[in-house]
Amino acid sequence: MARTIRCECGYVARGDSDEDVITTIRGHMRTDHPALLETVEREDLLGWIQME
Ligand SMILES: [Zn+2]
Repeated sequence: MARTIRCECGYVARGDSDEDVITTIRGHMRTDHPALLETVEREDLLGWIQME
C-alpha cells in the first residue's frame, strides 16, 4: 500500500514505505520550506502519513 504525506502547500509526497515517503517529503521541505525542516521531527512526519 502506498504512503502519502500532504504538505501544507499542497505538494503530495508518495512512497512505498514510511522511510520512502519521509525521505521524499524531507527533500521537498529542504527545497521549499527550509525553516520548517528544522522544526518538524521525524515523529511529526510519521503522524502525517496516510495510507492510500
Ligand atoms: Zn510544501
